[in-house]
Amino acid sequence: MTVRLVLLLVLSLALGGCNGRQVQSQQSLVMGTLATITVYAPQNTQTQKAIADAFSTLDQLHQRWHPWQHGATLAGFNQALQGGNWVAVPKALQPLLQQAIALHHKSQGHFDPGLGKITALWGFREAPEPGITRQPPAPGAVNALLQQGVGLDHLQLRQDAQQGLMARAESPALLLDFGAIAKGYAADLVTAQLARYGIHDAIVNLGGNLRVVGRKGEEAWRIGIRDPRGPGTIAAVRVQQDSSVISSGDYERYFIHQGRRYHHIFDPTSGYPAKGLISVTVITPSAALGDAASTALFVAGPKRWPQVARALGVNKVMAISENGEIWLTPAMQALVELSPGVASRVKIQKL
Ligand code: AMP
Ligand code: MG
Repeated sequence: MTVRLVLLLVLSLALGGCNGRQVQSQQSLVMGTLATITVYAPQNTQTQKAIADAFSTLDQLHQRWHPWQHGATLAGFNQALQGGNWVAVPKALQPLLQQAIALHHKSQGHFDPGLGKITALWGFREAPEPGITRQPPAPGAVNALLQQGVGLDHLQLRQDAQQGLMARAESPALLLDFGAIAKGYAADLVTAQLARYGIHDAIVNLGGNLRVVGRKGEEAWRIGIRDPRGPGTIAAVRVQQDSSVISSGDYERYFIHQGRRYHHIFDPTSGYPAKGLISVTVITPSAALGDAASTALFVAGPKRWPQVARALGVNKVMAISENGEIWLTPAMQALVELSPGVASRVKIQKL
């Protein structure tokens, strides 16, 4: 998809600072989401070019990492794996695959980028069509996939002297899907690219996955954390140093069937949407780590998320449970400003 839809160019003249730098923000639909790049930089053609190049990088990454769109590098690799033979891992996929494998293990399997067939079975492969009601798949269909073997543990890897990194799928139900890490990973790449243009004060927001660098002139960037059940924010964070603010939630992609919400983040052991939490926000140095971690903690659920956070080395967490409790780790509590009326729901979880 190379739809370039520049929806908005905000030039906030009131925020113009010293050296002619000011806040400039552009939005575009890329990587299947609304991406916003905000910079605090001089208003000139160099800045415009930096932002335009950032969006074209995002388009290219989408073309590389889409799990099933015809022509995408990952889609082709997934197709090749279906044969059950050893195939060379395309070079362009290797860094993300390696990082995803490491985070899969660190997360104790809760982050599992091998669940593409489960996602497809539940109908989250395509964007919802208006007027089409969705319903859960038959339990037998979910169990059939589980029995064949979903998940990254069914991917074998080896190094070949001639062909480099090779992979083989042990199960026909394995389909790689980097949807829970790719946006964070892309946000890291794009902030590095902006830095090469001399832009060191920026927010790259890929559908709620934010990488934040530098400051807005004299002030720290202020980031709102979305209320998973309301139109506004539940809290805000002043980001004092380069970091990422990443959320996973059951509000992003879901359908309601017979009064129950079915969403897009799956428990790899059941093949059903993970239960117990409705949103998880983490603050981490890298957005790739934060993206995988927020998904992993969401899947781990109300009892196990602290243990998985420790295993991943993530100490700033806000986890909201389906009964409305807002769990904060002490390090997160020190950073957030709660929105009015939510303080009574807050509980502290030490790690
Ligand atoms: P996120 O919004 O980052 O939590 O990612 C959710 C997306 O990742 C889903 O739309 C699926 O494509 C994929 N996904 C679903 N469940 C998992 C899981 N347990 N581990 C990794 N990826 C998942
Ligand atoms: Mg994620």
